[in-house]
Amino acid sequence: MRIFHTPDSGRHDPERYLRRGTPIPHPEQAARYAILRDAALQGGHDLAEPADHGLDPIRAVHDPDYVAFLAEAWARRGEIPDIGDEILTGSFARPQMHRRPAGLLGRLGLYTADTSTPIRAGTWAAVYGSAQCAVAAADAALAAGHAYALCRPPGHHAYAESAGGFCFLNNSAIAAERMRVATGGPVAILDIDVHHGNGTQGIFYARADVLTVSVHADPSDYFPFFAGYADETGTGAGAGFNRNLPLPPGSGDAPWLEALEAGLAAVAAHRPRALVVALGLDAAADDPIGALAVTRAGFVGAAERIGRAGLPTALVQEGGYLCAALPDNLAAFLAAFDAAR
Ligand SMILES: [Zn+2]
Repeated sequence: MRIFHTPDSGRHDPERYLRRGTPIPHPEQAARYAILRDAALQGGHDLAEPADHGLDPIRAVHDPDYVAFLAEAWARRGEIPDIGDEILTGSFARPQMHRRPAGLLGRLGLYTADTSTPIRAGTWAAVYGSAQCAVAAADAALAAGHAYALCRPPGHHAYAESAGGFCFLNNSAIAAERMRVATGGPVAILDIDVHHGNGTQGIFYARADVLTVSVHADPSDYFPFFAGYADETGTGAGAGFNRNLPLPPGSGDAPWLEALEAGLAAVAAHRPRALVVALGLDAAADDPIGALAVTRAGFVGAAERIGRAGLPTALVQEGGYLCAALPDNLAAFLAAFDAAR
């Protein structure tokens, strides 16, 4: 399989994360990049760095002012007295608050959903490079059938104009829009990360040309809390083109694969010309922040089912955190996907 990655992914390395009110080492660490890359390398796959397609594919799904803010935020850090290694705020706009302050901290509160996405010296390089990997994988999947983008940081919690949940730019949405334009559409996104792909849902919620399907742990007591429920089915022209398949916490391979099959049936009914798989690996039983109990055999089963769908497919890395099973689950998924084609 063609694998797109960039060493720039290692340049965003946040240290701390406030999980349920308690500071812990940040789960979305730069070490994930090297571990996932080495797993792909040992699988005998064809690794390449992406070409630079610039900002246009990013702006195709993101607000241009938000993109400009991410690109220039670190250079503006002098606006905050006594700034340390990262820019972070604890003050966020609520839906009732509509003013758009020009200052750096105000802008950050406008453009972030939580405290998980600090901006550091290398953050823009990492998120920009990850987005380019998604673009390259989209193009390669259309040319050669399938490809994998090692995107880090991940992307599926990022909305058109906000970061959150470790995500800055929505790599899966960028890949999907790229494939929609190239094929004339429609296209579909199947998100199998343990967390609901709320940013992806938000970006395409009013559109019929990009079907969004997410299989995830029930959000009623789990991130992202405020979206991801089964009755969210799209709005306006997008009514009927969003499908959420939440599962009770602790669910294992059988219910997870059953939900995935329901998701694939929805994808097939949409008759897409291409598919993006938002490939989170944090549904794994031993993932440190996961909530499901999927085994390596479960990931193999998922790869076989998705591979057999036969669509041009861009696999885009989402979550999946440091544990012994992480590299094994990626290697097993990629090998089973290749074998199913
Ligand atoms: Zn996740």
